[in-house]
Amino acid sequence: MIKAIRGTRDILPPSSGVWNSVEASAREVFRSFNYQEIRTPLFEETVLFARGVGEETDIVSKEMYTWEDRDGTSITLRPENTASVIRSYIEHRMDQWVGLKKLYYMGPMFRRERPQKGRYRQFFQIGAECIGSEAPAVDAEVIELVVEVLERCGVEGAKLLVNSVGCPKCRPGFIETLKQSLQAVKGNMCGDCQRRADTNALRVLDCKVPEDQPVIDALPSILEHLCGECAAHFETVKDLLTARDIEFEVKPRLVRGLDYYTKTTFEFVHGALGAQSAVCGGGRYDGLAESLGSRVPAPGIGFSIGEDRLVMTIEEARAGQTAAGPDLFVAPMGDAAVRHAAVLARELRRGGLVVEVSSDKKLKRALETANKTAARWTLILGDDELAAGEYSLKRMETGEQKRVKREEIASAVRAD
Ligand code: ATP
Ligand code: MG
Repeated sequence: MIKAIRGTRDILPPSSGVWNSVEASAREVFRSFNYQEIRTPLFEETVLFARGVGEETDIVSKEMYTWEDRDGTSITLRPENTASVIRSYIEHRMDQWVGLKKLYYMGPMFRRERPQKGRYRQFFQIGAECIGSEAPAVDAEVIELVVEVLERCGVEGAKLLVNSVGCPKCRPGFIETLKQSLQAVKGNMCGDCQRRADTNALRVLDCKVPEDQPVIDALPSILEHLCGECAAHFETVKDLLTARDIEFEVKPRLVRGLDYYTKTTFEFVHGALGAQSAVCGGGRYDGLAESLGSRVPAPGIGFSIGEDRLVMTIEEARAGQTAAGPDLFVAPMGDAAVRHAAVLARELRRGGLVVEVSSDKKLKRALETANKTAARWTLILGDDELAAGEYSLKRMETGEQKRVKREEIASAVRAD
């Protein structure tokens, strides 16, 4: 038997219905904030991610699906989408477009991680980028956008964590301080942290190993090392969140795995997700475009929601609820009725109803199927009905049945 590749999965009904409604809700919210969709390729030149995400990150150093194409080009399945959006921004000279560039995307990403609950090798992200402003008001609006998407999708109980990771002016000083503090304590930390203490000290703060947590908690905080500009920026963002009644927790240890982040970083976590608790990560990346070759500055901020995890929180909350069935189940009895049913079903579907036509010619079996598929109404179509030009409409919940004329069907079904 051929099975799906480890870490990938099929999204089947009824779950696919939840995915559809999540995506539809997200599109509505994006529209209301005047964001437009961008679709970039699923694979890009490897160098884009090496530079845009950073060689030192877990993503680039161990999680990418990379291969050499027949012409020798190194190609990688996208592990995230911000680098691709910025590549597209530069390639299409979007700096010359009017106003802020507000782009959203949804689609699969690929990372070769150890598969477990909430962690897959092909997973889906819903994200957005707002490019063209350094203003803290944009940061607050982008965070509000995530809050609205989560709310519209029906996610309850997500918690917002915020931090600032400074800028190229103040961060190096903090990293030096951090490295010095780490010299004294790194001996008590996990192997990864011992290595990171020298190569990428900031990432120590990101460590998930439980035994390391008390050590990390005692390390210096980046918030005490921000330059005046970064500190003021962070204060304004917090103030604008408070003005919106958006609750948040400042978490000085929150650093993003990606090198290009500056100033504001944030994450949304959800209690129902267990160890893989992050449902959304985001932040500002003022230097990214230039590091990818843009000749003009293109400060930006964005986020990415893990759609698999978002759907998990919704399904957990809705456990036990059954998916909606068709509005109407049409049960034709006999060949003439089958022909008639097809035309009738087309008419009703065009009128906006969800209609299923039975393939069973036995009334009892058809009614059983109607019940199992949770149809609200069943329309019985036999020789008698055809001759009389009337139909038997049965309400499945109560079993009550009435005779209706063709033009009365839609309104009867809609009435309840
Ligand atoms: P984590 O700490 O869980 O590995 P991350 O920092 O690698 O997350 P980001 O790169 O910020 O994640 O991606 C944004 C979101 O995408 C995450 O918050 C998460 O919800 C989702 N995500 C990331 N990796 C995976 C994966 N392998 N499977 C499912 N969802 C994922
Ligand atoms: Mg990760």
